[in-house]
This record gives sequence, structure tokens and C-alpha cells, in this order.
Amino acid sequence: MIPMVNLKAQYSEIKEEVERGLAETIENCAFILGPNVQAFERETAEYLGVKHAIGVASGTDALHLALIAEGIGAGDEVITTAFTFIATAEAIKYVGAIPVFVDIDPRTFNISPETIESAITPKTKAIMPVHLFGQPAEMNEIVALCEKYNLKLIEDACQSFGASVDGKQTGTLGHAGGYSFFPSKNLGAFGDGGLVVTNSDETAAKIKQLRNHGSDVRYYHDVIGYNSRLDEMQAVILRAKLKRIDQYNQARRHVAHLYSELMADLPLVTPYEDEVGEHVYHQYTLLSDRRDDILKALQDNQIGCAVYYPVPLHQQNVFKEECAGLSLPVTESVAAHCFSLPICPFLEEDSIREIVGVIRGVLTE
Ligand SMILES: *Cc1c(COP(=O)(O)O)cnc(C)c1O
Repeated sequence: MIPMVNLKAQYSEIKEEVERGLAETIENCAFILGPNVQAFERETAEYLGVKHAIGVASGTDALHLALIAEGIGAGDEVITTAFTFIATAEAIKYVGAIPVFVDIDPRTFNISPETIESAITPKTKAIMPVHLFGQPAEMNEIVALCEKYNLKLIEDACQSFGASVDGKQTGTLGHAGGYSFFPSKNLGAFGDGGLVVTNSDETAAKIKQLRNHGSDVRYYHDVIGYNSRLDEMQAVILRAKLKRIDQYNQARRHVAHLYSELMADLPLVTPYEDEVGEHVYHQYTLLSDRRDDILKALQDNQIGCAVYYPVPLHQQNVFKEECAGLSLPVTESVAAHCFSLPICPFLEEDSIREIVGVIRGVLTE
């Protein structure tokens, strides 16, 4: 049995530190916005090289609150991708805005400056790129587009903690960025959690209010806010993992490079990397015309595998009507041919060779 992610192997390494921190928190009873959330916010801001980091309850909330804080609202168009997890578009809908889905680059699976620019209208207020699977979008060009058209740039960095463009962290390149600490993410909690980052003092102040019932001073409320705080216990776990995040991401890159090397001679499209972006391989995702045969063989051999994402958002029931007639040929083709293999910092070389052996068997039989 080879699982998609091996969370148990990671736990044994941080067990002592986490159990000590959790026991202390329970002793101290500082459960809401306590010292670990505050320390984690300082530590992530420093790690990411950004002025403010604000812990929230989930990645979905991070995107939602970032959109509110940046003034995106009813009727505004937000350009984004249909090849992502639903939460990207949910956040846009929560504020009454309209997700405008544009096609993706077949190499990066992300929206590109070309696809974005042709979709800009007078109603466009923001661009929300997703750094899908840990692969940075073409941010230098996307930042330039936002400046040219005076648009807000809100990054969905939920899958890309630690990924960078020219040495600058994804999530910190626009007006605001959202991260998720869902357990399987590169930096994962033992439950839900999220983070908003920004270099704007004003946006940071708004997010702090919004996550805490619209309040800066207890029992004084300035706006209608939310109950969306990063949990103190999760912050303990995240602090232990943050210390090791570079090591984890490097291990993921090592796994990915070995996969790609071992499959270089096979008729498959392996993940793309360019010189400016550092991919952190939240997923290792390939394309094949024989995807379904490969998935079946992997399953028969008790090897984890998955399709992220089988149905693009514009074809989901929830968006079918709103997106009637919209055709995104690259997105649709990628969704029909993509599959993801097990990847995590603790995947051993023997397992990688076994997985590649099964795929080789299918493609050379
Ligand atoms: C995980 C994820 C989210 C949402 O994060 P949650 O913490 O699960 O709310 C948003 N966007 C993308 C691309 C994600 O992968």
C-alpha cells in the first residue's frame, strides 16, 4: 500500500515538540488568538517576506476575507481559473462578484497573461491566479497587467506555500494572498486553518477585524464580521512544521525530479518547470492519453492515485447555467488527461521505482 500522502511519517518527527506545545496550551487555557497564533503570524510573515500575516479559519476564508478587504463586491468581475478546487470560485461568489473563467497554459496548468488580458472588461476589478499544484503562475507578467489596468491582485496560494518567483514568495506578490493549512497541504495543520498575507497596513487591519466579528476592541463592533480565527492548537502544530518547511519542500522536489527522470522515456507529459518559478509540488501531476488504464493498474497494485480535477468549474452543476456556452479547450483537455501520483516529503525511492514500474508496464505492454 502506497498512500497519496504519508502524514504519519511526518508526525513521528515533530511528535515531541507538538505534544509539549499542545499540553502547554491546555494548561494555559489561552485557546483563542493566543501566543502561538501571534508567534505563528510573526514567523510566517518573516518566512514569506511580507509585512502582515493574519491567521484565519481556513483557506476558503482567507480568500473570502481578502476579497472583502480589497473592496471586491456585487457585480465585479474577477478573472480566475476553472482548473482549481471549487473554493477559489466560492470565495468570489460569497462577495457577490462574478468569476470569469479563462483558459490555462497547457504547461503550467495556470492562467497566463495572454488568457487574462483578452478577458479584461470595464467591469473587471481583480485577478485571482491560483498557483496550482505548487507551480507558480507567471507572476511578473500578471503583476504588470494589474498595474496596467489598475486591478487588484489576490493570489490563491493555498497549494503553494514556499513556492517562489524570482526568489519572492507566491502569495506576497499582489495586494493580498491566501493560504490553506488543510492537513494534506504542503504546510498542513491537524484540522482546518488558513492565512492572509499582505503588505498593506489597511488591508491587514480590515482582515483582523473581519476574522473577529468586526471588532478591534472586545465588544465594540465596527462592521459585520465573521468568526474566522486560526485555532491556537493548530498554530502549535503549524509552528513545528514551519521550521521544517524548506526541508519538506526540497524533499518534494527531489521526489518529483526522480519521477520525471525515471519516466523521461515514456509517452507522458511530466510537470513543467521554468527558470523563474520554484515549483513546490503540492501534487505531481501528469498527462496521458491512457490515464484510465494507468489509474486502474495503480489501484490494482494498491498504489494511491487521484484525478485533480476531473470536472473543471465551468462544467460543474453549480456553474453550468452561469457558464453556458463557455468553452475552455485547454482546461477541458487537461481535465480529461491528468492524474496525480503519491507525493510527500517521506516517499521513499523504492516506492517511486515501484510506481514508475507499474506505469511503465501499462505503457509498454
Ligand atoms: C485547499 C484549497 C483551497 C481552500 O482551502 P481550505 O483550507 O480547504 O478552505 C482553496 N483553493 C485551493 C486551490 C485549494 O487547493
